Amino acid sequence: MPSSLHVNPSPLFGKRDPDSRGYFGEFGGRFIPETLVAPVEALTAAYFEARRDPEFVAELEHLLATFVGRPTPLYEARNATAGTGVRLFLKREDLAHTGAHKINNAIGQALLARRMGKTRVVAETGAGQHGVATATACALLGLECIVYMGAQDMARQALNVFRMQMLGATVTSVDAGSQTLKDAINEAMRDWVANVATTSYVLGSVLGPHPYPLMVREFQSVIGAEARAQMLDAAGRLPDLVVACVGGGSNAMGIFDAFIGDPSVQLLGVEAGGRAIADGEHAARFAGGAPGVLHGTRSLLLQDTHGNVLPTHSVSAGLDYPSVGPEHAWLASIGRTRYDWIDDDAALDGFGWIARLEGILPALESSHAIAWVQRHVQTFKAGDVVLVNVSGRGDKDVDSIRARLGLAVTGTPV
Ligand SMILES: *Cc1c(COP(=O)(O)O)cnc(C)c1O
Repeated sequence: MPSSLHVNPSPLFGKRDPDSRGYFGEFGGRFIPETLVAPVEALTAAYFEARRDPEFVAELEHLLATFVGRPTPLYEARNATAGTGVRLFLKREDLAHTGAHKINNAIGQALLARRMGKTRVVAETGAGQHGVATATACALLGLECIVYMGAQDMARQALNVFRMQMLGATVTSVDAGSQTLKDAINEAMRDWVANVATTSYVLGSVLGPHPYPLMVREFQSVIGAEARAQMLDAAGRLPDLVVACVGGGSNAMGIFDAFIGDPSVQLLGVEAGGRAIADGEHAARFAGGAPGVLHGTRSLLLQDTHGNVLPTHSVSAGLDYPSVGPEHAWLASIGRTRYDWIDDDAALDGFGWIARLEGILPALESSHAIAWVQRHVQTFKAGDVVLVNVSGRGDKDVDSIRARLGLAVTGTPV
């Protein structure tokens, strides 16, 4: 094995760390109770050691190739852009195993849990995508898996609950608060504190206390590393614009990461505009948020004038969260990234555009990024090259789309 591998086992790791307290500028950090300090520090030490270890990196890369199906393809959407002169490329995370980018991070964190000698993993899930990815990684690596899920989310996502159970995970219903993602995260953290000797917490996005925002970004940055090389191969140059949807922000950080040092590449995150940009009706933190702390990190937060966290709404469960990854808030504050929103109706239009013209059913989350391009395609110059991250597949969303459009099964296209 070449000795350079021992210095830099993978270009994904260690290239842009926050400061030693986990801050990206004024965002990030660690806002945790006393009881979590020791486990979070142990996790940080273990992660910083693992990412320098060629054996850990080699096993991760092997599983990404043979189990997840990486690299995922880059596909040029020629039908959707016919006559516009714009070249639109789609990074196909929808084709990763389990149908979304979340598996990249779940495998990485589950490998780390096993390396730390843990036998049990806890995770939170909203719509169930991160829960399914974590249950999958745990089945593969022989770890016990407990997924906390709000009671209301369990009712809405019964199929994903069953998928997790088939993979051998225990899904625990959370009846506190609004019975959704926010409450599931609280319960998962409580379990972790109580069982820390045996248990790791696998967090699903670039959120939470340091080191999670860094670690999850690094596990997801394989998306951008692949896409950058694939763009150079397919178009002979870098894209002018990279677009990704932003819930917590992990698929967007994953694809942006490779382009942050390329000043010619604009980076755009698309948030959920929901029904309207009014309190409780959306999840566009960059449109209506202010700095605040939630779940262990300081970032932009949708809150009222007293600092109470506001309810959120989006047609896509994966974007429906009141805060956003702290690195996004920082990159926006220094002007490197920008953010816009797409409302529920426009997202459904974007879904239909790519479904009918390209034969791809994107997730409703990803449809927000796609819809942004659809809405702005006339403003691009001929020859512009746009890259969109298709974070996941839409099979999970077909029932909610059908309900929303009030469709009977008639055989007529929508
Ligand atoms: C969970 C999810 C998202 C939102 O999470 P990020 O951390 O913002 O990427 C987006 N798309 C899909 C398909 C998801 O499952």
